[in-house]
Amino acid sequence: MEKRHQIPIVVDTWEEESLWVDSFDFIYEQAELQGFRTNKKFTNRFACQNCKNPVFLKALADESRLHGHHYYFSHHKDAVCPWKSDSTTVAEIYAGVEEGRLHLETKRLLAHTLTQLEHWQIIDIDKKFIFSADKLNRAKPDLHAQYKGKDVVFEVQLRSESPKVVMTRQEFYKNKGFQLIWLSATKDNIFVDEDKGFVKQVHKDIAFCNRGNWFIFDAIQAEKSVKKGQLQLIAMVWESYLKLDSKRIKYDWNEYKIDYAQLTYEDGETFYKDFFAINKAHKDRLRDLGRKTLQENIREYRVHNWNEFLKAAKSEWPSLEVDHERKWLKALFKIDYESRELEVKRKILEVVRHYSKQGEQFYQRWSELENKLAKVDSFGVSRNMNLQVVEKVLLILGYDLTSHLNTKNKSHCRAVHNFFDYGSFIPYQSLCLKAIELSPLKDEILADENVLKRLHMPLKMDCEEENKSIHGFLEWFASEPRLKDVELVYEQVEA
Ligand SMILES: [Zn+2]
Repeated sequence: MEKRHQIPIVVDTWEEESLWVDSFDFIYEQAELQGFRTNKKFTNRFACQNCKNPVFLKALADESRLHGHHYYFSHHKDAVCPWKSDSTTVAEIYAGVEEGRLHLETKRLLAHTLTQLEHWQIIDIDKKFIFSADKLNRAKPDLHAQYKGKDVVFEVQLRSESPKVVMTRQEFYKNKGFQLIWLSATKDNIFVDEDKGFVKQVHKDIAFCNRGNWFIFDAIQAEKSVKKGQLQLIAMVWESYLKLDSKRIKYDWNEYKIDYAQLTYEDGETFYKDFFAINKAHKDRLRDLGRKTLQENIREYRVHNWNEFLKAAKSEWPSLEVDHERKWLKALFKIDYESRELEVKRKILEVVRHYSKQGEQFYQRWSELENKLAKVDSFGVSRNMNLQVVEKVLLILGYDLTSHLNTKNKSHCRAVHNFFDYGSFIPYQSLCLKAIELSPLKDEILADENVLKRLHMPLKMDCEEENKSIHGFLEWFASEPRLKDVELVYEQVEA
């Protein structure tokens, strides 16, 4: 008679936990089992996992079982529950029974293996609760052992649980200082999981609480363990590979046959290889490389704005995480952009210098410059600007434009005179005042008698379009980044 007894899981209402019926004869001694059947105080202790109705323990003679009987639970006759039927086609029940069987087998296999190994001592299998120091939390490991006197607990995990289950256990044993090792029986024995890939969600939940590692223990490992006299496991490790040619990191699961002694236990986590540490080293390496190449090459991109800069950065540094590097990137962008702004300012000085030296025929150079700049950002440079005015404005800002009109000759003061003495400059008086305001030599200019004399004359604040456009140019030219080393500029231009 091959009658299936259909309640695979019951709830122990006293302990508020679910138990595999198949494991009852393993967990409980004969006398305890007998108590569940005959002692009134145990009535209603166990309930059907599915319908939550109380169930009672029955026994069927079976000499192959530990206590000579096969124990199973039955509903009361008036209970309504699909688990009451004899149907063997309910996949969930079948999976449940299989899971319970494999869970139990793995646990027994591990216990049987550890008893044959030196340094290992089994403290408990599935029996006692382990309490936390404050007695508020408790957990019951599948197997609690000691290795050279140190506590090690094993959890056989065969189904996907909410990540909270994994995290709570991790936390609990971390606080107790017990090394926790999660075991899977094979790579693909996870029950009730819709994910068909061999690395199931439960593996990932466990692995990423243990530096990217999960472990397998099965009959082959058991046999090897006994042969070698050391517990053998398969470590599945999420690994990080540095690909220098593509400047990226690749990831994959890898399988290692290991000894228990090769495991590291640190900060509540058990691992063979520390994925996070290795990955961080790779990321740091890529970051150093990324920063270096970006720094070296960014000028060639000649970016005009932040967005273009980010695109260039990403092509030089494919693994770049913008949020992590934002501060550094902003700084480099500023340096790069400003260095090119300075280049433009130098170029402008050079053109104006030629203009003031050679006169009108060099106006063409200005026009060419305006053409070039129009393609990027004009910076307020316009074709029709009065270059004589621009020249005086730059003199007021303190730039040397000719060898005989340098700051030693107070050219910055003499430039002011033009805006009061000559008719063609008078419409630009407000520009002159602004230039004085922005000039680093302001104090000196305003202390000059000849300048003061002129500033006391009534102002003519004409406001022509051209005047306004030079205002914009002046503000940009005088703003950061400023050309500070005027002498250097001078030498460059002369050369
Ligand atoms: Zn039921």
